[in-house]
Amino acid sequence: MIKFIEQEPYSPIAHTYEVEKILHKEKSKFQELTVIQNPFFGRMLLLDGIVQITDRDELFYHEIITQIVMHAHPEPKRVVVIGGGDGGVVKEVLKHKSVEKVYFVEIDEAVIRVSKEFFPSVSEKVDDPKVEIKVMDGAEFVRSVKNIDITIVDSTDVIGFARTLFTKEFFDNVKNSMNSNGMFVTHTESLHFHKDIVIEMQENLKKVFPVVDLYTQCIATYPGNWWAFAVGTSGLDPRVMRHPFEIETKYYDDEIHERLFVTKKFYKKLINRELKW
Ligand code: SAM
Repeated sequence: MIKFIEQEPYSPIAHTYEVEKILHKEKSKFQELTVIQNPFFGRMLLLDGIVQITDRDELFYHEIITQIVMHAHPEPKRVVVIGGGDGGVVKEVLKHKSVEKVYFVEIDEAVIRVSKEFFPSVSEKVDDPKVEIKVMDGAEFVRSVKNIDITIVDSTDVIGFARTLFTKEFFDNVKNSMNSNGMFVTHTESLHFHKDIVIEMQENLKKVFPVVDLYTQCIATYPGNWWAFAVGTSGLDPRVMRHPFEIETKYYDDEIHERLFVTKKFYKKLINRELKW
């Protein structure tokens, strides 16, 4: 069987996956898209040779990047999803009845199209009438939108054209687009491998948002596995759930919500750069 070796440029290890079949390959204006079939993970979406989602473990990422802020916000109505061309975050957002509008801002239309074909259950909600698809740079989009309750960034790694989504200018524009209870979440790579990026993102968010916090989740297929999510809010504590857990999920629930956040003692040592590993 042929093998695919993922060598993420900022990761000290490489992952090797068996390839039963290459189901799709194309070069878009932005990146190379490949869909492979693996005996354990099922279908896998690769962008420029980096694993984005797999049939088997996408739920652990999509539920966790989405449901923390969706439950910490008192009543999310207007949501922006940036990146996430596979539609997994949009699907999670639309589980909430309070949601009236989702701006789904993906820079590369090819990711939306290919995901619809090869990951139909993940992208099943992208054509919902509440969803407005914008094929453009998310950093550009947030400059003009207003009255947003939640912004979720589900982008590729903090390199390349996703870089615009990790700058202070972007965070300023997100904050300005928000209602008074606004919340923002983004992934910030792995605490094992990219501790400095995790800290830098927390510092940048603190320049903009009154409340900033950090939670983590294990993701089998992302290098470093111990994945970090940064939250910024206009004042509300994201560790607190503000409405009951009433949606269908496989992993996220009201017991896990607060447990996913790092402890306050650990957070302090991390941010003060007291921890060496
Ligand atoms: N969960 C995945 C991960 O962390 O590996 C990310 C999946 S999703 C497919 C990432 C998407 O972000 C890609 O489709 C990419 O085109 C999109 N993206 C990257 N930079 C972007 C930007 N500046 N604006 C909008 N979308 C962007």
